[in-house]
Order: sequence, then structure tokens, then C-alpha cells
Amino acid sequence: MISHILNKDNLNKQDIVKLLLAEGDDLRLLFEKSSQVKNDNVGNKVYLRGLIELSNICSKNCYYCGIRRDNKKVERYNVSDNEVIEAAKFALKSNYGSVVIQSGEIQSSNNSDRIENLVKQIKELSGGKLGITLSCGEQTEDVYQRWYNAGAHRYLLRIEASNKELYAKLHPNDNNHSFEKRLECLSLLRKVGFQIGTGVMIGLPFQTVEHLADDLLFMKEKDIDMCGMGPYIEHADTPLYSERNNLIPLEERFRLALKMVAILRIMMQDINIAATTALQAIDKIGREKAIRIGANILMPNITPGIYRDSYKLYENKPCTDESSEDCANCIEGRIKLAGAEIGYGEWGDSKRFLGRTT
Ligand code: SAH
Ligand code: SF4
Repeated sequence: MISHILNKDNLNKQDIVKLLLAEGDDLRLLFEKSSQVKNDNVGNKVYLRGLIELSNICSKNCYYCGIRRDNKKVERYNVSDNEVIEAAKFALKSNYGSVVIQSGEIQSSNNSDRIENLVKQIKELSGGKLGITLSCGEQTEDVYQRWYNAGAHRYLLRIEASNKELYAKLHPNDNNHSFEKRLECLSLLRKVGFQIGTGVMIGLPFQTVEHLADDLLFMKEKDIDMCGMGPYIEHADTPLYSERNNLIPLEERFRLALKMVAILRIMMQDINIAATTALQAIDKIGREKAIRIGANILMPNITPGIYRDSYKLYENKPCTDESSEDCANCIEGRIKLAGAEIGYGEWGDSKRFLGRTT
């Protein structure tokens, strides 16, 4: 039985590995505990962030990602400024509380100016009501500062794999894909004042449960404010596809991802944890399952429909043929199914961040 581990104040690596391997009654206990910790610390509300997939143009070549620079099969797009504004208005009208702007990584003054302006316009059109999260990769401190000053206040930058050797197997070995640079960016984001979110992919080739335990300890050590993590899903037009026969089955990756969410909730009781889209790609009600056992953030897609099919980071990405209205209609029932309620119109900032800074 694992109840003695679940009652500890601090989990060590060995404890986490045991929890990651939990099955049957032990697994049930783990999920009961994480669900309770969630309700006691961040409550039963799920906060919404409308996700705008701004562009699939990317200067990087991560081995796992479907929109990597060298994938010539992808039709590249940029959502127009006008469409971004329309999407933000939709989020406001739907009472989503926040938007997330995510895109491939582009480091250019044009792109930096553009995002700065978009952030300002979204703040303006919503009278400051919409919270803004960015997820636009590695940038300089100056660029982060400008985006923060414009009104964005959260930033998502996954470490992808906190083990340097594993990271090196997932990325080209060049300056454009430096592990240290990614770590430094997380520090810069915190310095600038953002609520910082990070996360990893789960079920990657070469990844062990020990790696995953270290990932959770990494997040704790970095005292992150938010986390988004989900299963790795292979994409045929990427180099890592060559390892497809060395992967654990999708269902197992999914279960492992749920366990990661549950354990992180127990380790970091007051952070925000997203129920990620990749969970839904494997299990139709995967995000709802994550909400039940510890997640409290959902990111409904509000990217204009015509672009959705081209933002395929991985295969079987759900809802690429739906409109924002369809998503809005679908969410309410889904959250109820997860036994939670929606925090309409609220920012739902990370309690951990607020506790540290106020
Ligand atoms: N370019 C930015 C943001 C867009 S990518 C960045 O990389 O930070 C967003 C996330 O998609 C990445 O952090 C990665 O964890 C995830 N992702 C990419 N390819 C994936 C795959 N094949 N399976 C699961 N998640 C993937
Ligand atoms: Fe680009 Fe992000 Fe995909 Fe890497 S994970 S290739 S940075 S979009």
C-alpha cells in the first residue's frame, strides 16, 4: 500500500517513482488524494484560457514536433491581426477570462513588435478584462520585458525534458536548441515578473520513470507557478518517428500523464495545472479525467477554423474541424462531467504566484 507515501510532507525521488508505478487500489488512492488536495487548495473551479495558435512558422527543429522548420509538408500560416482581435472578442463575449497566444518560435523585431501590439490591443478592447498568457518560445530579456509591459502576465515555456542528456536526444545539437538557454529563459521570465509555466512530454522515447520523477522534482525546485504537460504523440513527418517502435502504448502514456498530474498536484498544491489537449488526443474525455484528479485549467481552442488543421504538433490532434462556437458549447457539459464548475470571467491566476508576490 502507498498510503504512507501519500501522507508524507515531502516526496523524494523513490517515493515519486513508486507513485508513478502505482496500479489498482494504490492508483485509486493516489487519485483520491490528489483530487482532495486540489479541492482543498485551489477549489473546484476550472479557469478557461482561449487558445489562439498564432502561427506555425518556426525557426526551430525539435525532433518531435510536426511544425518543425524542416517539415516541408506543412502549409505555413499566420493568423491575421484582425482575426486575432476577433478571436479575443469571442473569448470576451464567451466570458473566458483569459486568452493564450501560442506560436512557433520566431525571433525577429517584426514579430516582437507584432506580439507587443496584439497584447496591447487585446488589453484595450477588453478594458483590461482579458488576462493574457504567451507561449512564443525563447526570446531575449528585452523582448520578454516589452511583452510584459504591454500587458501579458503569464508565460508558458516547457522544459520538455529536465534531464540534459534526454533533452539532447530530442533536439538538434546546436546553439538554437540549447538546454541552458531554455533554463535561462525561464529565469528571465520570472525576473521580468511573469507567472511562469513549464512542463514536459510524457512517454518520450528514451524516457524512464526516473526521468519523470526528476521532472517533477525539477518543477518543485524551480517553484513554478503553472504546469502544462501531456503525453508525447508521435508525428510521421518528424525525425523522432524512427523511434515509434520503442514507445510505450498510447494508453499507457495517457495513464502515466494522469499520474504525473496527480503527483504534481500533491507536491505543489496551489499551482495551476492545465488539462492539456494532447490528453484528449488519446482519450476523448482525457482532459475531464485530468480535471477530476488535479488539473484546474482548460484551454479551449479559439483559433479561426481554417488554420487549425495546419497547427499539428502531433497526430490525431482533436477538434481541428470545429469552430470556436462548437468548442464553447461543448465545454460546459464536459466540465460538469468532470464534477467541476467553470470560473467564468475570472483570471484564475496561480495561487502560488500570488502567495509569493503579495
Ligand atoms: N514554440 C513554442 C510553443 C509551441 S509548441 C515552444 O516550443 O515553446 C508547444 C508545445 O507542444 C511544446 O512545448 C511541446 O511540449 C508540445 N509538442 C510538440 N510536439 C509534440 C508531440 N509530438 N507530442 C506532444 N506534444 C508535443
Ligand atoms: Fe517550434 Fe515549439 Fe515545435 Fe519546437 S516545439 S519545433 S519550438 S513549435
